[in-house]
Amino acid sequence: MEYKLAVIEGDGIGPEIIGAAVKTLNAVGAKYGHTFTYDYVIAGGASIDKHGVPLTDSAVERCKASDSVLLGAVGGYKWDTLPGHLRPERALLGIRKELGLYANIRPAKLFSVLKDACPLKSEISEKGFDMVIVRELTGGIYYGERGRETGEDGVEAYDTERYSEKEIDRIARIAFDLAMRRGKKLASVDKANVLESSRLWREVVHRVAEEYPEVTVTDVLVDNAAMQLIKNPAQFDVIVTSNIFGDILSDEASQLTGSIGLLPSASLGVTKCGMYEPIHGSAPDIAGKNIANPIATILSLAMMLRLSFGLELEAAAIEKAVDTTLSAGCRTSDILDNGTAPLSCTEMTDRIIKNL
Ligand code: NAD
Repeated sequence: MEYKLAVIEGDGIGPEIIGAAVKTLNAVGAKYGHTFTYDYVIAGGASIDKHGVPLTDSAVERCKASDSVLLGAVGGYKWDTLPGHLRPERALLGIRKELGLYANIRPAKLFSVLKDACPLKSEISEKGFDMVIVRELTGGIYYGERGRETGEDGVEAYDTERYSEKEIDRIARIAFDLAMRRGKKLASVDKANVLESSRLWREVVHRVAEEYPEVTVTDVLVDNAAMQLIKNPAQFDVIVTSNIFGDILSDEASQLTGSIGLLPSASLGVTKCGMYEPIHGSAPDIAGKNIANPIATILSLAMMLRLSFGLELEAAAIEKAVDTTLSAGCRTSDILDNGTAPLSCTEMTDRIIKNL
């Protein structure tokens, strides 16, 4: 098959980790008989330097014309003092909006060979964990009505959590479909003991659940979910939740894995075209040194192959190659624990490709 990717290298370590990912994808293509073509699109800080804005209409059109978008990371010290609407990160919001990407999928997996990097007690980390958090991305309190008014006690500010049945239904379906491919367990996280929007969330999730009788659904209040992630993360398979709860819980879960250099993510929406990126930022402190960990970006490729292109075999091959490489003791400097010399970004990539 032939697939066309829009590739946004971005800023900082972006070009290094994207270089690693493209090399890996070409190797997968050669092994499994696929052709991947790349349209390099400029966005973020690089676009501000060239076009004066973080995202141009032409960049959006080229992303829309692709089968999926692969992104490194955007941002850096150079653009930190620009006003909000001109910051590099605005490019991400623009792409999500224009491509209708309403679901953010973030796996948090503890690699067995990296258990020592987990900050939890060893009796908990020993059990390992492998979960996916599905966060609603384009609704809720981050997009609801907000404002300030003057009340009896001075200035008052408000933000509104508002969800429609349609928004909850479509994110629930993404989560159920994922659960069907995994352990068939879904935890729906809300605050239904207090919030009306959460009560609707719960109703709709249970309605959708009737179409997925094989999936076991549990309702978990968000405060309990935050505790359970620390107490017993192994209990979770797929978690589905609102924008604000998902924002907080996915960062909590990522910290439990010990390194942000290992975690991929996907944003999915109305079409098969998704955006795939590592969860970390542009790491300006290590940019240009060829020491960035490429694994999060390489695992983002696996998500793309599986979720947008339906290439399960190829996706699993990438994940297995990463596992094998880590099990062989290969480490970049961010996950160094065994006293061996760290591999560079390109060396780590070459080892993974060798293990494909
Ligand atoms: P960061 O994730 O870039 O870096 C945090 C720390 O982790 C740094 O010490 C960095 O060196 C290290 N790190 C990150 N990725 C690594 C990798 N692959 N290998 C080894 N070490 C790695 O977060 P930050 O420093 O808060 O942000 C830097 C810039 O990135 C900011 O401009 C921020 O706005 C932007 N950012 C972009 C995205 C995105 O593009 N999706 C996400 C988060 C932050």
